[in-house]
Amino acid sequence: MPTIDALSDRLSSYLSTEQIQQVRRAYFYAEQAHTGQRRRSGEPYIIHPLAVANILSDMRLDYQSLMAAMLHDVIEDTGIPKVALSEQFGDVVTELVDGVSKLTHIKFESKEEQQAENFQKMILAMAKDIRVMLVKLADRLHNLRTLGALRPDKRRRIGRETLDIYAPVAHRLGLNSVRVEMEELCFDAMYPMRSGLIRKAVTNARGNRKELVDKISTALRNRLKEENLPSRVLGREKHMFSIYTKMKEQRKSLNDILDVYGFRIVVESVDMCYRVLGAVHNLYKPIPGRFKDYIAIPKTNGYQSLHTTLIGISGVPIEIQIRTEEMDAMAKHGIASHWLYKTDNNEMAGSQRAQQWVQNLLELQQSAGSPIEFIEHVKVDLFPDEIYVFTPKGRIMELPKGSTTVDFAYAVHTDVGNSCIACRIDRQLAPLSSKLQNGQTVQIITAPGAQPNPAWLSFVVTGKARSNIRHFLKSQRRSESVSLGERLLNKALSALGRSMDDIEQERIDLLLEETSLESIEDVMEDIGLGNRMASLVARRLLAASRDTDIDLEAFDNEAPLAIKGTEGVVVNFAKCCNPIPGDPIVGNTSSGRGLVVHTATCKNVQGIREDAEKCVILSWDKDIDSEFSVDLRLYLENRKGVVAELASAVTQADANIEGISVEDRDARLSVTQLQISVQGRKHLARVMRRLRAIPGVNKIVRIKN
Ligand code: MN
Repeated sequence: MPTIDALSDRLSSYLSTEQIQQVRRAYFYAEQAHTGQRRRSGEPYIIHPLAVANILSDMRLDYQSLMAAMLHDVIEDTGIPKVALSEQFGDVVTELVDGVSKLTHIKFESKEEQQAENFQKMILAMAKDIRVMLVKLADRLHNLRTLGALRPDKRRRIGRETLDIYAPVAHRLGLNSVRVEMEELCFDAMYPMRSGLIRKAVTNARGNRKELVDKISTALRNRLKEENLPSRVLGREKHMFSIYTKMKEQRKSLNDILDVYGFRIVVESVDMCYRVLGAVHNLYKPIPGRFKDYIAIPKTNGYQSLHTTLIGISGVPIEIQIRTEEMDAMAKHGIASHWLYKTDNNEMAGSQRAQQWVQNLLELQQSAGSPIEFIEHVKVDLFPDEIYVFTPKGRIMELPKGSTTVDFAYAVHTDVGNSCIACRIDRQLAPLSSKLQNGQTVQIITAPGAQPNPAWLSFVVTGKARSNIRHFLKSQRRSESVSLGERLLNKALSALGRSMDDIEQERIDLLLEETSLESIEDVMEDIGLGNRMASLVARRLLAASRDTDIDLEAFDNEAPLAIKGTEGVVVNFAKCCNPIPGDPIVGNTSSGRGLVVHTATCKNVQGIREDAEKCVILSWDKDIDSEFSVDLRLYLENRKGVVAELASAVTQADANIEGISVEDRDARLSVTQLQISVQGRKHLARVMRRLRAIPGVNKIVRIKN
């Protein structure tokens, strides 16, 4: 049974006494936290974290990873909060533990291959620090080693998930020994019969072939010695899962696969690799087309080696891999091999080297023009710029980093985006502008007839969401502009004692020709947007002549245009004076922006009041049921509870508070700004009456400009 003392002994080969002390402290903390808990096998729970730390110590990972390994199930299984851990062990270790716990929560359900790949990327992206992934892989590996204690169906589920997700992730990171062990254990767990048969065949073959293997390796060793090439020659065992996959995918018989003899030659330098290659090609004849130089062009996960196949004694094929010690370590431990070489006790050195490694690989692969698949996967880990979230049905969606729920809704479907009104993130209601995080489940709530909000444009990040919202607003603006333009034109015509019915088609055609527009709707849109004057268009339609003077008197008598407040994007209420029903109002038509409604007394329209081109007299429609914002400034004596009384007075008058802020305050008095929504002037008067009745309210002013 492994013990903490045995581990400490082994750690002393590469960690300082102080670091080992920290690892031990984490161990004893976890031991206490898990007191009374047992593994399914009946052993005390602490055996598991200790074993995980042992696996990581084989990769010579740093002391913080080992501490995280000891503590990795503490948050999850013992109810000790994250803050307690960070007080004890600091933020770095706590973040590692938290990262592992988050990965544990995510369950992979889908069977589609592409989804599996996205899932791999998602968990890599979630492990912001690559060490989180290494701890998680070690955790999974130990769970697989102890699978025997579980029910068969659970065994199969874990086996499937590991083969779909964790083994490929280990492969991406070049952690070959972890990957191979995972595959062997899963194969055993999922197909006990098949793995049993293959194991037996391999054992038999080994016995039969021992003599030949010895002969070949002696021949290789002797030749390399003669040529004065110091090296290690090793026989290679085939793994059961890889034999099984080859049989299935390449339709080869077990004998075909077992009849290939594998050897590895490990040397000191790259130069030596090529000299050894020359020597073995001299010894046995190489099979043409089977030589691969993965030293010059490494595999996408950083694997480097020379591969060649020879025809040996009595015609047997011999597969040979030639590489340096460093490449050999890389082939076994991948990204983790960068923790293998210690420098100056610098705790960051491992991660920095890992990052450097990824960077080098990127450059290497770009120059070699080979697929950069692996880099993309590691990039989401070390330089994250994508996120992965679930739909309620468990599909994984890939989105750019910073995406919001609205981006998600449009990614699902344009209609979902256009009609979304609310959302749930991990079952909690959340604002539509919420930025999504890796691993969240997002549910969009839609309503028939709902419309995109222009404000969404300020937070969406995907092109799809942006262009769909823009497109929708544009067509909405078109229909609203046309209807406003039509009203303005009718008003202008009626001021001249006519209506649209009086206009002959010829006149309309003439106008379209003059304006180079396609239809009368286009003309109305132009009027609605403020690009064209309704009175001028009306006069053109009636007279169709350029030199008739405009009868300005006629326009003075015109009936004002009635505003309802629900006209949409082409009628806006000015923020400077916040007009409400009951206020005398005028409209400022500004080119391309439609109509902006101001109070008649607003300073901003005084300059244009006389300009019929820019200013339209407006009135309020008779029945209005919308609410309008208005700003009040209150001069208050400081008294406990006065703000609460303000709020209740506003509510009692059936109005809503939209905002409140203190502008100025001294010992006795404060000036408070209150934004409320009301139906109109009468309603506002009622609210103000109630506010004035509160003791300590000295003065109330409605703010305009
Ligand atoms: Mn665990």
